[in-house]
Amino acid sequence: MQTTNKTIVICGAGIAGIATAYYLTKLNNKLNIILIDKNQPLSFTTSKSGENFRDFWPQKCMREFASHSIRLMEDLKDDYGHDTFKMSFSGYNFVSHDKEKPIFSINSNEHSEEYFEEITDTTTILNKHAYLSKSVEKIISIKNAGNIDVYAMGSLMLKESKKIGVKQLQGEVVAIEKKESKFLLILASKKTISADQVVIATGPFINNIANMLGFQFPIENTLQRKFIIPDPKNIIPRDMPFTIYADAQHLNWSEEERTFFASEEKYKNLLDEFPGGLHIKPEGEGIKLGWAFNRHTEIPKWETSQADFFPQVVLKGASRFIPRLIEYENDVPTPLIQYAGYYTRTKENWPLIGPTKIPDVFVIGALAGYGTMSACAAGQLCAKYVLNETELPDYADYFHPMKYQNPAIVKEIKEIKSDGQL
Ligand SMILES: Cc1cc2nc3c(=O)[nH]c(=O)nc-3n(C[C@H](O)[C@H](O)[C@H](O)COP(=O)(O)OP(=O)(O)OC[C@H]3O[C@@H](n4cnc5c(N)ncnc54)[C@H](O)[C@@H]3O)c2cc1C
Repeated sequence: MQTTNKTIVICGAGIAGIATAYYLTKLNNKLNIILIDKNQPLSFTTSKSGENFRDFWPQKCMREFASHSIRLMEDLKDDYGHDTFKMSFSGYNFVSHDKEKPIFSINSNEHSEEYFEEITDTTTILNKHAYLSKSVEKIISIKNAGNIDVYAMGSLMLKESKKIGVKQLQGEVVAIEKKESKFLLILASKKTISADQVVIATGPFINNIANMLGFQFPIENTLQRKFIIPDPKNIIPRDMPFTIYADAQHLNWSEEERTFFASEEKYKNLLDEFPGGLHIKPEGEGIKLGWAFNRHTEIPKWETSQADFFPQVVLKGASRFIPRLIEYENDVPTPLIQYAGYYTRTKENWPLIGPTKIPDVFVIGALAGYGTMSACAAGQLCAKYVLNETELPDYADYFHPMKYQNPAIVKEIKEIKSDGQL
């Protein structure tokens, strides 16, 4: 393979760009790789991650992708030491008030042994999880799931890549010119960089780079939020697994609140049905809560806004399955740390990884709410494409940027009942 003297420029040093650089060096340690970011590495979407991982997904391609990524994360720990980053298999519990309700539209008898354990005996549920509502009828516990320290993992991969010669640059790519077989990347500082191959890894901004080359990816960005609060009343046990409410719900507002929200255009949506997926976990001495219910797509911005009532909405929704959380709804414990980042996603919620319609331009993106858990597998797959490797995993076709031209894959996309978003 004649890649030795080629220069590969990776735009974006979030977890996706860093993982790509790392796996490129693993596959070939003689490459010239430049990793460029406008900001500090891992500081944009990646820093907003809830840092949860799981191998259970509605579709096989996603299950295999996430499973492989979890194995690669474990390999990193084996290779560089178990203290290099925190990874704990603390589990995921999906809870429901309806024992007949499938999680992610999948019947519990499918894959059960491999991926999860189901509990429908209410006495067992309450004995094991006294903090849950007495009317919870089902828990599905995903076995291969937990949380990771993505900043430490990304920093490790960056450090190891730099040892093999990856150069890290701070700068904003503002234009790209094609000069015969080379690309000329122009930075805001007016500095230019010549590249043979370009990897687009700019998270919510992948279309800004694609625009510079005259095309667009079929993605959308929705702003999603999380917050952390102290837990002065010790409502959440410190060893509670990441717990997700699977049921959709209408929030239980008072008559007065209902009338007020109905009269204000910007609050009317608080009266709508909210989707399942509200999630809670213990975080240090406090609690971290999130609910990716926002479906409003927007052009991404570097600075994100606060949302009125988000903590109250989530606490009210959460009290449906952990009743005592209602005690915090109108008296939210402080300090309250709120943050927001974009889920950059395709309609079907599968990523875009591989060659684009422009020769020698690749993408790793649309990693929505699962980019932390899948970064290693995504980076490895992107690296294989850049190096023109032909042995690719079965899931590769499902994530290929040209997948929408493949009738078999389009048919599978049309049949999707749940996209697995949390
Ligand atoms: C609230 C929230 C919770 C989440 N929770 C989880 C979770 O629990 N588990 C999980 O697996 N995933 C989770 N995710 C998803 C995960 O965080 C993302 O999928 C992942 O971080 C995306 O990484 P990235 O490298 O593609 O993007 P980013 O981290 O955004 O990196 C892109 C980089 O490109 C740079 N850049 C952009 N434009 C330019 C330019 N023109 N020139 C130079 N640099 C540029 C940016 O500065 C940025 O550093 C969550 C996401 C959010 C928002």
